[in-house]
Amino acid sequence: MTGADLPSLRETVARHGLDARKSLGQHFLLDPAVCARIAGLAGALDGRHVIEVGPGPGGLTRALLASPAAEVVAVELDRRAVAVLADLAAAHPGRLRIVEGDALKVDPAALVPAPRKIIANLPYNVATPLLVGWLRGAAALEGMTLMFQQEVAERICAAPDTEAYGRLSVLAQWRCRCEMLLRLPPGAFSPPPKVWSAVVGFTPHAEDPGPALFAAMERTTAAAFGQRRKMLRGALKSLGNAEALLATAGIDGARRAETLSVAEFDRLAQLVAARS
Ligand code: SAM
Repeated sequence: MTGADLPSLRETVARHGLDARKSLGQHFLLDPAVCARIAGLAGALDGRHVIEVGPGPGGLTRALLASPAAEVVAVELDRRAVAVLADLAAAHPGRLRIVEGDALKVDPAALVPAPRKIIANLPYNVATPLLVGWLRGAAALEGMTLMFQQEVAERICAAPDTEAYGRLSVLAQWRCRCEMLLRLPPGAFSPPPKVWSAVVGFTPHAEDPGPALFAAMERTTAAAFGQRRKMLRGALKSLGNAEALLATAGIDGARRAETLSVAEFDRLAQLVAARS
């Protein structure tokens, strides 16, 4: 079977009895035009090693295989979907590798050689921990194009002094340039989720903070936004000697977390890392 002979996505889902499971965050994209549009948002794919997390019935996977990517490696937890994808792999010899397992336990850098891109319509129930893990290792990635619930996408891209600005905004924007690329209504998915979805593009910054500084940033943002209504001199107490920390960073202790820029969080995290 070649790519052109494959049954439609709807037929594939019906044939394999791939009814969507809520516990696996399954909302499938069955319109090839939407899948092609998302793949197109990932920029140049020629010679790239693409990791797709949660291929499901393979709509986005088909669009990625139609690109000049060197290979697509699809990580999927649902054994039923892995069986569906076997036909797709047979139609694209040597270009699709299917890894059955939990993407939370997979290191992208160990999975494929550089240049690497992650492109996925993520399972919403584990999207945030997946993203934080990839941000930790962002230096190994050329880029990521990821679909989230719109509310999460907005938090990722939010600017200071807005309600959506928080821990995820700082971590993501500290490590990557983040861009809201596309919003999709519930009806674009089968079954439709309750909320809108959105695709965010991530381009990692060149500097790699390394694990100790990344951990310090996680502790700093968790403390600051854990009590976001409090003044920073109170909110950062759990980090020890908050007054001295803020004074050294040149930040007024009466300010609240949501007013700090990513650069100011970087100054705090550098000091927290230097203390430990
Ligand atoms: N990419 C497909 C599409 O757009 O139609 C499916 C997207 S669906 C939102 C999320 C997919 O992630 C499902 O296929 C689900 O089985 C898979 N999944 C859920 N948790 C996972 C995990 N921890 N690791 C890998 N895949 C997972």
